[in-house]
Amino acid sequence: MQESLNTEIKFLPGVGPKRSELLNKELGIYTLRDLLYYFPFRYVDRTKFYKIRELQSDLPYIQLKGKIISYQVTGQGRGQKRLSAKFSDGTGIIELLWFKGFKWIPENHKPNVECIVFGKPSVFRNQINIIHPDIDDISKEKSLSSRLQPMYNTTEKLKNNYITSKVIQKMIFNLLETTAKNLEESLPVWLIKKTGIIHLNEALQTIHFPDNPEILKKAEFRLKFEELFLLQLNILKTKTLRVLKTNGYVFEKVGENFNNFYSNNLPFELTNAQKRVLKEIRRDMGIGKQMNRLLQGDVGSGKTIVALMSMLIAIDNGYQTCLMAPTEILANQHFKSLSGFLEGLNVSIKLLKGSTRKKAREVIHEELLDGSLKILVGTHALIEDIVQFQNLGLVIIDEQHRFGVAQRARLWEKSERPPHVLVMTATPIPRTLAMTVYGDLDVSIIDELPPGRKAIKTILQNDSKRLMLHAFMRKEIEKGRQIYIVYPLIKESEKMDYKDLEDGYFSIVRDFPSPKYYVSVVHGKMKAEEKDISMKHFKEGKTNILVATTVIEVGVDIPNASVMVIESAERFGLSQLHQLRGRVGRGADQSYCILMAGYKLSDEGRKRLEIMVRTNDGFEIAEADLRLRGPGDIEGTQQSGIPFDLKIAHLGRDGNILQYARDIAGEIIDKDPLLAADENRLLKLQLKKLYNKSVNWGEIS
Ligand code: ADP
Ligand code: MG
Repeated sequence: MQESLNTEIKFLPGVGPKRSELLNKELGIYTLRDLLYYFPFRYVDRTKFYKIRELQSDLPYIQLKGKIISYQVTGQGRGQKRLSAKFSDGTGIIELLWFKGFKWIPENHKPNVECIVFGKPSVFRNQINIIHPDIDDISKEKSLSSRLQPMYNTTEKLKNNYITSKVIQKMIFNLLETTAKNLEESLPVWLIKKTGIIHLNEALQTIHFPDNPEILKKAEFRLKFEELFLLQLNILKTKTLRVLKTNGYVFEKVGENFNNFYSNNLPFELTNAQKRVLKEIRRDMGIGKQMNRLLQGDVGSGKTIVALMSMLIAIDNGYQTCLMAPTEILANQHFKSLSGFLEGLNVSIKLLKGSTRKKAREVIHEELLDGSLKILVGTHALIEDIVQFQNLGLVIIDEQHRFGVAQRARLWEKSERPPHVLVMTATPIPRTLAMTVYGDLDVSIIDELPPGRKAIKTILQNDSKRLMLHAFMRKEIEKGRQIYIVYPLIKESEKMDYKDLEDGYFSIVRDFPSPKYYVSVVHGKMKAEEKDISMKHFKEGKTNILVATTVIEVGVDIPNASVMVIESAERFGLSQLHQLRGRVGRGADQSYCILMAGYKLSDEGRKRLEIMVRTNDGFEIAEADLRLRGPGDIEGTQQSGIPFDLKIAHLGRDGNILQYARDIAGEIIDKDPLLAADENRLLKLQLKKLYNKSVNWGEIS
């Protein structure tokens, strides 16, 4: 199928070894197919002409119709020499400028001949000019008249080597005239009919050279649909096959421990959402298939209790369980709160961390093997090969996005059959992304907070208002509240970040001196024991303020802490800000989140902070994040194994197409999970081509 498109790009006439190397390096274009699927990032309407007197500096690419009046070459030597032209359209005169590659321009575009100038206006010394415009003869106007001009992204390096958007356009034009002229359809005819999408050939011709906006839309839809459809088809096929293949443990009853806990230990009434989710989990673990479920719930929505009650079901059916957390702080905290909930029940629980002593470790290993230890809480230490269970029936993973898929799989290997898996995340994931990143998981959502919570007030404050901030902090401390102050920690600037944190810590200690105030500090460079002590002091209310890096981001639960100050808030991503804010608002008191930001904010930075001020809804924030940044940057997506270099579809903006594609993929897989039917042969081949690297091209004909 279209094997000729696998030809290396250097064999395209007019490319050659040097240009091909640049295209490889700069744009990742290696084959003709790569070039064909290098789509314009936008289009310029070449039917509209501006007048010079209308020009402003902040216009996009525009075109003018007029005459060059005169040329002038100024400057001497390399890098100094330039060509300037005066251009008039009767409403005014502007300057056109070239700094290189202008040798033939005066020759090709004689003065006083009507022509079309195309480029992006800029301002120099209060004068508007256009640098490196394209010039076309007026005779070409006809052929351009109904065309949207494709614009391709290039890099500085490419431009320096004369590979401009226009040059790429020409390469693609050639390709579409030759090798890519009559491409075979890549989707089955019945699917094309069913969906009403246009054919591949037309779509590719149109996406590069659209005749009008309407047909361009159709081309975009066809290509986005195909991309998302094949992605979903693959996800659903993999998932369906896994479910068909793997048997799971059957937890058929709700037993003594669960019932005891429910009637004696449960300290509050479950929310409806918690009840619903618990039902979903129970059903999943009882039907003989392996559960693979994602439990989403905003910070503070009460996932821990759901986890615990699921564990009790496993234990009542004779199995062991474990809970894995991404940090020691979190593992400690889970261990404590679970132990607290379990008080008075006869359920053994232990904690295993990197820092657990050898003696204690050995005891744990033994008790796991003889089955007497029922719940093991821990960090990555749980994955080590030496940790073996007698019968691990349920694995709970907290804050999933920190663990990769491969790590999850290693936990599976610890028992005869794959244990049930419940992944908990407090990072609300937009629906479209969940469908894709966690496409092979079922999703449960706790969309309700326990009653009595007051909405957190979020305030955006300028750095210069530090005195006011400290006064506010004193007032809150007087009321008995505790305060977090969080500093960013970005890998690339780690040294400076620690300095910021240190400076911040000292200035806080200076302004909040003992014995009236006490300040804790927690950061990644401290030893585990030091961190624990610092956290403990804060948790027990012995200190008023906790100065920290983002180690406290996930899961830490201290209801009396009601103020979250985030320093250099503009440097955090939206989901991280939301996570941090979720540390407060856990008690009955009014909580505050104060975002401290510098004067110089990027547009995107400001937007992020404004969204934080506007809403507390994690899903809304996640959607905004996805729109602002795109999925590749969202935490967790990199490890997911999903190819996020989608060529045209955008998971943030094309949610509707994604849903449509998924529905159709679902119908197909329901009927024919192996894609064995004749009518699905082409689809099977496409998946193989896309997702199975070792394709035998000979087989595809
Ligand atoms: P998260 O979903 O962020 O992990 P937690 O499980 O830590 O949330 O719960 C947050 C707090 O709310 C905890 O102190 C927990 O005991 C409490 N909580 C959980 N469920 C309820 C409920 N149904 N009613 C009242 N408080 C609850
Ligand atoms: Mg939690």
